[in-house]
Amino acid sequence: MVNISTINWLFVCGLCFCLGGIGVLSFMPLSSDCICPLSNPLAKRTGGEGGVGVMEKIPAAEKQPHDHKAAAHKLALLVPFRDRFEELLQFVPHMTSFLKRQNVAHHIFVLNQVDRFRFNRASLINVGFHFASNVYDYIAMHDVDLLPLNDQLRYEYPSELGPLHIAGPKLHPKYHYDSFVGGILLVRREHFQQMNGMSNQYWGWGLEDDEFFVRIRDAGLQVTRPQNIKTGTNDTFSHIHNRHHRKRDTQKCFNQKEMTRKRDHKTGLDNVKYKILKVHELAIDGVDVTILNIMLDCDVNKTPWCDCSGTAAAASAVQT
Ligand code: UDP
Ligand code: MN
Repeated sequence: MVNISTINWLFVCGLCFCLGGIGVLSFMPLSSDCICPLSNPLAKRTGGEGGVGVMEKIPAAEKQPHDHKAAAHKLALLVPFRDRFEELLQFVPHMTSFLKRQNVAHHIFVLNQVDRFRFNRASLINVGFHFASNVYDYIAMHDVDLLPLNDQLRYEYPSELGPLHIAGPKLHPKYHYDSFVGGILLVRREHFQQMNGMSNQYWGWGLEDDEFFVRIRDAGLQVTRPQNIKTGTNDTFSHIHNRHHRKRDTQKCFNQKEMTRKRDHKTGLDNVKYKILKVHELAIDGVDVTILNIMLDCDVNKTPWCDCSGTAAAASAVQT
């Protein structure tokens, strides 16, 4: 027979075991933990060479995109982000109503770069893809400051021909060259994988989208764009971007100019180096949004222009 004091002992021992376990876990090196991609029974456990962070349960796992559970295709809006809070507060409700009117099943992922290297839009998109692509079958690489105004712009699943460029050169308020694919680009999961995602070499503003255009072409794909749009460059989008307030980081240092003009055959989705430090689930005006705090890693021997001033490593280490 088991008496009360035996039960008490069992309880105390169980508690000790649990606390001990937690103690051991908290001293485990980070590399053995992971913030994993959204869960899917068929999913791999980690993304790329990174995908490493603090141990955490992800409430977003198995997340169903807004209201449209039966939709054939699910869109992950991947929003590269650093220090654009005011824009985000406009973006989230705007995009939610816009896509609701089109019945597009979607979820917004804010890819928040938290390291001290220069901004790297393309690497953030690679990381967001690793995180979301088990569940979502197409992505929109979406600037936070470009709001579509015309309901004729359909955020539909791109055709087998290739990516669907929503912010085409005849519609974008600022960029008008034929091969432009920036701003808002929708890509099928398998096409993004086929191209090995985007280059990781673009630190600072510009050219990562032009390099991606060459990847599209080299993969035998083509860019399609919305047809018969009745609005033009002034009234298709609102570009909430004041160039004095939000200065573009156009600095070029080391051999950046020369290196970033070439097609990059080496880097992409399969070798982006990062840690996801934290996953926040936030509601903005009642809309659920997932924020990934992403710490990108830069090999300063290969791409020294990720840190023109040479202070990024120190800035990450010192907390004052
Ligand atoms: N971005 C950001 N913080 C930055 C720089 C860029 O969040 O410091 C993101 C944001 O989504 C922005 C996009 O990257 O919309 C493209 O950058 P930017 O607006 O400067 O480029 P533009 O297309 O206006 O030249
Ligand atoms: Mn902008």
